[in-house]
This record gives sequence, structure tokens and C-alpha cells, in this order.
Amino acid sequence: MSNHLILLGAPGSGKGTQSKLLIENHGYHHVSTGDLLRSEVAAQTPLGQEVDAVMKSGGLVSDETVFALLKKGLDLSAGYYIFDGFPRTLGQAQTLEKQILDGHAHKALYFAIDTKLLLKRLIARRVCENCKSIYHLDHKPPKKAGVCDECGGQVAQRKDDQEDVVAQRIAVYEKEMGVLLDFYRAQNTLLEFDATAPVEELYQEIKTSLEM
Ligand code: AMP
Repeated sequence: MSNHLILLGAPGSGKGTQSKLLIENHGYHHVSTGDLLRSEVAAQTPLGQEVDAVMKSGGLVSDETVFALLKKGLDLSAGYYIFDGFPRTLGQAQTLEKQILDGHAHKALYFAIDTKLLLKRLIARRVCENCKSIYHLDHKPPKKAGVCDECGGQVAQRKDDQEDVVAQRIAVYEKEMGVLLDFYRAQNTLLEFDATAPVEELYQEIKTSLEM
């Protein structure tokens, strides 16, 4: 383990699930801009109130706001980080490079998936509001409906996993991702994975690619 990891992929491509495995087994620090933003909304901070409507519509929060939030409490010398859901735009990728990674070794992991498959995945996704464990109503429901197997927290649907918002989130993703992939390809730091592979198989492939 000698790289910070940048996870790239559409909403629902499995970034959160693979992050959890990497954190539990390899001790990465995790930073998800989506989780940070949702906490601000839940706590009704001024920033949360400002971004609530954009998030509900499936659009992107401004680069400045996301970056300011991300930077708080980040210390790359304290261990290796997983960046989950950031960067989303070329501007964010350039800022991450210059102002955060600043020469620290890193790899970008791309979870490739046909976006047509995502709508179904996301609409059936449920998330523990406490520990963020991820469930799927068809193939990984919690043992007791609405209750997290891991921590007993409440398992619920994210507001932006409802059908009309999901379609917008996928459209935003499709617009931005090509440029991001080109950016990391040009740096020679991009590793690509088939996100339709079963969770455990995908996890093993990631470990092999990272020589872990
Ligand atoms: P996620 O949990 O990563 O799917 O993010 C949920 C929502 O938060 C997105 O649809 C955006 O509205 C917002 N968001 C999360 N990360 C970013 C980011 N890096 N840049 C802009 N908006 C973001």
C-alpha cells in the first residue's frame, strides 16, 4: 500500500462498497465529498442550506464549496487516503493534484459500467444512515427491513436515489467523466476495472493491480 486512491465511476458503480473493503482491510482514510455534503445538509449548516437544492436536483455543487469542505481535516502525511466522489470535474482534478496531492503517489481507479444498468441499481440501493453500509433491495437486503446488519442503524433510501434525480445524476456524470479519464490516462495513473464483476472478485482485482 503506497498510493493514495482516487475512485472514479458513475453513481452506483460500486465505489462506496469497494472503499469500505479497502478501509476495513487496509486502513485507508476515507473521504467522500457526497457524505461530507449530506452531513452539512442534515445539520442544516449555512453551507448545507446552500447546497441542498443542487443536490436534490442531481446537479454538481460548485468546485470552491466542495474543495473548501474537503480540505478541512485532511492530512496526507497521516496515512493513505481514498478520495470517493472527488474529483467530479477537470477543475477539481487539477486542484486535487496541485493543492492536495502535491507530489504524493496516487492511482486513479475507474469503475467502468454501462450507465443503462445503473438506474436499476441506484433505485434499489439503500444506505445505513449511521455507518454508511450499502444494501440492495434485490440482492443484498438487510436481514431485518430498514435495520443495518452491521450497526443496527436505520437503513433508508437516499433522497437523490429516486428515479428522476438518478437520471439527472447519470447525465451529469456522462458529461464530465470522459475529460477526467483523459486527465488520469495522460498521467499514466489510471487503472480500469469492470464494475459489473461480483464485489469480491472486483476487490481481488483491485488488490492485484495495486500489488497489495
Ligand atoms: P455522491 O454521494 O458522491 O453520489 O454525491 C451526491 C451529490 O453530492 C452529487 O449528486 C452532487 O450534487 C454532490 N457532490 C458530491 N461530490 C461532489 C463533487 N466532488 N463536486 C460537486 N458536487 C458533488
